[in-house]
Amino acid sequence: MSKDLTCIVCPRGCRLHIDDDLNVTGNSCPRGAQYAKDELTNPKRMITSIVRVKNRENCMASVKTSVSIPKGKIFDILKEIEKVSVNAPTHIGDVVIKDVLGTGSDIIITKEIK
Ligand code: SF4
Repeated sequence: MSKDLTCIVCPRGCRLHIDDDLNVTGNSCPRGAQYAKDELTNPKRMITSIVRVKNRENCMASVKTSVSIPKGKIFDILKEIEKVSVNAPTHIGDVVIKDVLGTGSDIIITKEIK
């Protein structure tokens, strides 16, 4: 099944076309071709969310996946993130959940809290 889509890998937003044989046109770089192939065969996304900071009042720390995860696991991973809380100080890159649900992606802190 061929498909037209917009590349979201960078702000340029190339219009891509991918055919049944996974040939990609319209991409300005190889990352767009890989994105189109992944979208057709195994779509992936980055997740951003927040976790509670236990030792600070009304404080949340932002987190994200370290790499893209399969789109079908987004809600299960968000449930795992909901279970977690951290203590300040937090540092960008701190691992909150290692290899979340066996995806190969860690959940990492994206906010410095003193
Ligand atoms: S194909 Fe390359 S240049 Fe075009 S939007 Fe995707 S990443 Fe950016």
